[in-house]
Amino acid sequence: MTPPVLRFAPSPNGALHLGHALSALQNEAEARRLGGRLLLRLEDIDPVRCTPALAEAVMHDLRWLGIAFEPEVRRQSARMPAYADALARLRGKGLIYACDCSRSRIRVDAEALARRQGTPPLRDPDGALVYAGACRGQATASGLPAPRAQRLDMPKAIAAAPRDLGFWHFGPKGAETWVQVNPARWGDVVLARKETPTSYHLAVVMDDADQGVTHVVRGQDLEAQTDIHVLLQALLSLPTPRYQFHPLLRDAEGQKLSKSRSSPSLAMLRAEGISAGDVRRRLGFGS
Ligand code: GLU
Repeated sequence: MTPPVLRFAPSPNGALHLGHALSALQNEAEARRLGGRLLLRLEDIDPVRCTPALAEAVMHDLRWLGIAFEPEVRRQSARMPAYADALARLRGKGLIYACDCSRSRIRVDAEALARRQGTPPLRDPDGALVYAGACRGQATASGLPAPRAQRLDMPKAIAAAPRDLGFWHFGPKGAETWVQVNPARWGDVVLARKETPTSYHLAVVMDDADQGVTHVVRGQDLEAQTDIHVLLQALLSLPTPRYQFHPLLRDAEGQKLSKSRSSPSLAMLRAEGISAGDVRRRLGFGS
């Protein structure tokens, strides 16, 4: 029998903080419990924000933490042709359309739709306005040389999905439950942009399948987005891994740790004399 495959997949667009360490350590703990392999994948699709220096720093932090990843590190920046191919397959099914709407146009349209319906503007689970669909089915937008975005036609995509849209959730003690997903709540998500020819959703789904990932351990902030991943897996005839979502670390104000909120990085903690063992113990993984 082939062993389970897990992966930790940070985006090297900033320094790792304790929240990343928790995610990496939870992957390590689950890989050990399941007798699985543990891969490291750098999700560096954003050529502006993801720099080689940040990627080096991420790998340095993970080595310092002492996490036993397999030696070969995948970089998504080297996989653009595979993502383009997946996008072309979805386009071939008539599920992708070009969209040139600006942010302000998206807002104005969402507000106008809400006024017509007498409801507040529709928002996705992350709080962003749901795209009202101005470019859906418009021949003119598809004719643009380089449109701002390529969107998934969500209603059509859900109708085209050849299988039940759900996944097995696996708990840290092994209990498994079936979870039905609801991708419609995201609206017509963007799968590629002019400046980045793929999206997190498409890249993550393609690489999890290509690397044979069987168990995904990720933060609860990505739980709702898993809807989109399950739908793309069904449309692209890819297997759906099992998923587990770990709680997020929060700061004193109750906000999740983040690069943008300047949460203390692992490098800063190290410079203060905190050891990898201290970090493991503080996060509940040490002895
Ligand atoms: N790259 C994503 C992040 O850093 C996580 C990938 C995943 O677990 O799907 O938030």
